[in-house]
Amino acid sequence: MDKPDLIIRSRRVVMSETVNPASVHIRDGIITALGKWEEVSAQTPLVDAGDAVVMPGLVDAHVHINEPGRTEWEGFTTATRAAAAGGVTTLVDMPLNSIPPTTTPDGFSRKLAAAQGKCSVDVAFWGGVIPGNTHELKPLLNAGVRGFKCFLIHSGVDEFPHVTESNLLEALSELAALNSVLLVHAEVPEPIENAAEELKDSNPQEYQTFLKSRPRASENEAVALMVRLCRETGARVHIVHHSSSDVLPLLRQARAEGLPLTVETCPHYLTFAAEEIPDGATHFKCCPPVRERENREKLWAALAHGVIDMVVSDHSPCTPALKLTKTGDFLEAWGGIAALQFSLPVMWTQMQKRGFGLRELTRWMSNAPAKLAGLDKRKGRLAVGYDADVVIWNPEKEFKVVPENIHFRHKLTPYAGINLRGVVEATYVRGVRVYEQGRFAENATGALLTK
Ligand SMILES: [Zn+2]
Repeated sequence: MDKPDLIIRSRRVVMSETVNPASVHIRDGIITALGKWEEVSAQTPLVDAGDAVVMPGLVDAHVHINEPGRTEWEGFTTATRAAAAGGVTTLVDMPLNSIPPTTTPDGFSRKLAAAQGKCSVDVAFWGGVIPGNTHELKPLLNAGVRGFKCFLIHSGVDEFPHVTESNLLEALSELAALNSVLLVHAEVPEPIENAAEELKDSNPQEYQTFLKSRPRASENEAVALMVRLCRETGARVHIVHHSSSDVLPLLRQARAEGLPLTVETCPHYLTFAAEEIPDGATHFKCCPPVRERENREKLWAALAHGVIDMVVSDHSPCTPALKLTKTGDFLEAWGGIAALQFSLPVMWTQMQKRGFGLRELTRWMSNAPAKLAGLDKRKGRLAVGYDADVVIWNPEKEFKVVPENIHFRHKLTPYAGINLRGVVEATYVRGVRVYEQGRFAENATGALLTK
């Protein structure tokens, strides 16, 4: 076998079944062997990570980069640098908030052109399902999108309209034939419209007003609809950023039935609680909302039991002006949380308190999202033949989130000022060091994954 051109070793290497001392042998960006710790040679460059954790890089399957078109919100350069600094080695970009959206092959090629040469980590792309674009799905898939996303309610931007049940039936039968997956923003409009009527005289600066404006019923009904359509069409369905615990029993039942259904949630739903969010703190606004403490605990249990498969960021920033920080109006502010860079330490901080370990971390944040995006033959684990995407991090060290260490474009995040456990020391993408101790590689060598 060809000799490795790089070896990374540590006393704590996270593999599929074990956390052991080991050496990761790499050649041309691919893992060629997983050797014993002492299996190194004087001829091969060695990164000795000591006792730091060596783990597959995170795969974040839910990121809104917003370029081209809304690059003032976020862009490929800043988002992928934040990813690298956070130990995320692959991210999958959402089809909306960029202009044009990724709902046609032309829109996709314009996005690829915008991303070219700017990415510090590997980037893949979701396409979009909107009313009337069923004929675009196959060409989009052929051009390299990993699957599709749709909304059941207004998406927040007019160029990405939401779908109805009849649109869904049409799209799902096409996606079943193409063996692709539909990611669904699962909130339906009616309960939200009814709530708006009732909340006319409520104070929009209070978090409770916002929470009531996005009731659990909206998510519950949407998930029930998607479970039914998944069963009827046989198409793969994935529920994004799940928040309402009411509907977990239905999801558990659907999983037990063997439906091709997967579910994600996000670090913010597992960290914050509605009772603790200050009034006017619109940087906590996202849809569906962060709910009560009791809801949060049920999400953790669902994750532990495999009813929820994975944790992804739903990094969805905007300009500070759109967050209406001066007026603190929750109802009018843009909904979306910016935190891509902090998924690993945020989750680790919570997981340690709850008795979870490194194996769950890689399962929820590397293996499962790689599989969702159809990248599980090359991403998301340390194994022979896989891309050498590696994060080296210190799970005992703590740091405070301050603007100077935030690498995404706008520094407004609900984690500001919070102490987190878990410091990323270095990140490698296909064997190339893209980040180390606060510094980035000069060249942006991230690939656009269209194959
Ligand atoms: Zn999103």
